[in-house]
Amino acid sequence: MAAIEKRSRNEWQELDKNHHLHPFTDHKQLHEQRSRIITRAEGVYIYDADGNKILDGMSGLWCVNAGYGRQEIIDAATVQMNELPYYNSFFQCSHPPAIELAAMLNELSQPQFNRVFFAGSGSESNDTIVRMVRTYWDLMGQPERHTIISRNNAYHGSTVAAASLGGMKSMHKQSGLPIPGIVHVDQPHWFASDRSLSRDEFGIAAARSIEEKIKEVGPESVAAFIGEPIQGAGGVVVPPDSYWPEVQRICDEYGILLISDEVITGFGRLGEWFGADYFSTRPDFMAFAKGVTSGYLPLGGVFVSDRVADVLIEKGGEFFHGYTYSGHPVSCAVAIANLKLIQRENLVARIKDDIGPYLQSKWHALADHPLVGDTRMVGLMGAFEIVKDKDSLECFDKERRAGTICRDHLLGNGVCMRAVGDTVICAPPFVLSHSEADELIETTWKALDLTQQALSV
Ligand SMILES: *Cc1c(COP(=O)(O)O)cnc(C)c1O
Repeated sequence: MAAIEKRSRNEWQELDKNHHLHPFTDHKQLHEQRSRIITRAEGVYIYDADGNKILDGMSGLWCVNAGYGRQEIIDAATVQMNELPYYNSFFQCSHPPAIELAAMLNELSQPQFNRVFFAGSGSESNDTIVRMVRTYWDLMGQPERHTIISRNNAYHGSTVAAASLGGMKSMHKQSGLPIPGIVHVDQPHWFASDRSLSRDEFGIAAARSIEEKIKEVGPESVAAFIGEPIQGAGGVVVPPDSYWPEVQRICDEYGILLISDEVITGFGRLGEWFGADYFSTRPDFMAFAKGVTSGYLPLGGVFVSDRVADVLIEKGGEFFHGYTYSGHPVSCAVAIANLKLIQRENLVARIKDDIGPYLQSKWHALADHPLVGDTRMVGLMGAFEIVKDKDSLECFDKERRAGTICRDHLLGNGVCMRAVGDTVICAPPFVLSHSEADELIETTWKALDLTQQALSV
């Protein structure tokens, strides 16, 4: 039995156009065009209302790590819905799914983490961090320490505080952001630089820009630094190896809190449980969401290190912050089922030792295509850059929208990826098989050829 009444594609498109405002969308453009209606999914494939089968190279939106149609996740939701569909964790209440998940998460994370705070999304998680960081420094008797340093082109969510943490100029411009006390430094994006430094020199320089900002703001005013281990929405920006160790040194030296936004990189995407494990940092906070439930239900949260949690607990005083759906029991039950599945099927090790290296080698071979100027992939998170000239790495002018053209050819040939300017990005589900990886790569070659034809007329 379908949960939703079945209509024709046209009817759905019409209703969608008339009643539904989409996120991150040019409403005029979508009103003139039509939305793609996805009706079902299985494994690594999604199906649209026309019956097209599309390999989901983005895991939904970086979240469906376990793949679609996983019965044990579905069963966990059904059972929990019957047992206790909702209760809050305000007013000194709790319930087994939130308790069990909190304990399980801390088992999976670095030893400084023994506590989590639940939210409903990644944006809410980062809002929570802004408030908790500032509360921590207040309790420490250093209320002037309120400034958080982030990076240009970072993505930390869409709420007012999370968008302020983010470094997307277009988002800031639309609504008078950032809020006070949030400043930005350069991203560690070697390809986007003038490339006059080696990658490692550039990584050190990018990290040192944090130190310069600390000195500019005044070390006594700086509360924290936040970064995605690998910037996702910004275009899968893999920092040079030299970057994170230097960032850690700077945070340690100035005593500022390190926040790792693990909304994409958490729970295995890089072949380690967390991006902090992959890059050997020791954060004081980690934000999570997306992959914790493989997207089957919304859930987010924050890992809070003992350094901070101990102060909150010792000093006391109410932390005036929380969400109706903090620790939603059904979301937590789904997260537990999802994480157990990832453990039982050894999916994190599979990314490190098997499908990760398999896809990476084929991905890097795309660099032989005349249009591809750079390839990068860590675990199952990758990107390539479309360039006009392979030697100078000169890009196509922005009007040509080479990335979008390529993305459309990918989709037209049955593979979903995303374009960020002329960067094409990819993050397939952890369960991707070798033959599905072959299919993804073959379609990418074909789409690149078609893109080259389209750009040369
Ligand atoms: C998606 C994302 C967020 C925001 O998560 P939402 O659940 O969409 O609010 C935050 N940080 C990163 C790194 C993300 O990729």
